[in-house]
Amino acid sequence: MLIETDLTGLPVLVVGPAELVGAVARRYRRAGAVVDVITAPDGLTPELRDRVRLAVLVGTASTWSGVREALAGRCPVVREPAAEVTRGRVALVGAGPGGVDLLTVAAVRALSDADVVLTDRLAEVGDLGALAPGAEIIDVGKRAGHHAVPQSEIERIMVQRALSGLTVVRLKGGDPYVFGRGGEEVAAAVAAGLPVTVVPGISSAVAVPGSAGIPVTHREVSHVFTVVSGHVPLDPRRAEALVHLGGTLVFLMGMHNLVPLTTALVRAGLPEETPAAVVERGFTPDQRSIVGTAATLPDLVASAGAASPSVIVVGEVVRQSEVWERRSDSHGVRSGPVGVA
Ligand code: SAH
Repeated sequence: MLIETDLTGLPVLVVGPAELVGAVARRYRRAGAVVDVITAPDGLTPELRDRVRLAVLVGTASTWSGVREALAGRCPVVREPAAEVTRGRVALVGAGPGGVDLLTVAAVRALSDADVVLTDRLAEVGDLGALAPGAEIIDVGKRAGHHAVPQSEIERIMVQRALSGLTVVRLKGGDPYVFGRGGEEVAAAVAAGLPVTVVPGISSAVAVPGSAGIPVTHREVSHVFTVVSGHVPLDPRRAEALVHLGGTLVFLMGMHNLVPLTTALVRAGLPEETPAAVVERGFTPDQRSIVGTAATLPDLVASAGAASPSVIVVGEVVRQSEVWERRSDSHGVRSGPVGVA
């Protein structure tokens, strides 16, 4: 049961077998209640009986016999059947491209209801402990000096925790289905027979160029945008297809391949003077844009020392970043060379 009401300060008593009461108590605490738990009828002291304003009986009647009678007429008593309590579930939640502001309301709700959060380095939402109070937070991402947890292990932890009755949130940077292996994680949850939901997130593919003043589409300039993984270099046929398609090209995970990517596009017929930009560390205080052309961008990026995470944008829409730079509230924060040849 989801608790949508604000129960701040309400004294709540949760009654039931030890293996079931924990998850229920956590949910009421997250809703702001002051929760007492008893796992046997003799736990109901007179003082507790007088204090509670809501009692929640968990599991089957035999586990809380006597308590109901003792509380009858004193406070509202609700029941939570064991089947509802023990049913674990998985939610894949898009965290957006960075910062708590770019979480959706649905993502905030899912986090506040989580018993376990599996997170990684691109899901930077600030204080996860505050967003998911009481939840176990497991960092499965790559950090300096640490190896990433292998995908199979992430899925194993996710499924195992949910099968034990917990609500598991798998928090992923941007949108879970954009180069996020979200499909595989859904498949793992489904294979385990678990209920699974997917909360979409704001993808860096659109939002990061946008934050630098680059619209991925623009009337009469580009009416198509293609999001491409830059993880592996482009083979010539694919480069030709992309150039032929025209519009805006957005590369994610492509910084280590910037030279082969731009070279492949130019070889495939993209004019060298096509505007191109790298937007580094979107939505952080260190965000910066490096703007040039398909020919000049790799050198400009190398001399600026820009690195991952960055979004690479190729196409005429990049010229709009010049308009953006001239806006009246601009503080000229952009570092790196400015100007499209
Ligand atoms: N699912 C994510 C993308 C995962 S792939 C999404 O929808 O946004 C990871 C790549 O996303 C990074 O290599 C980088 O290219 C891009 N990226 C994610 N967050 C970013 C940010 N805040 N700034 C710049 N690039 C970002």
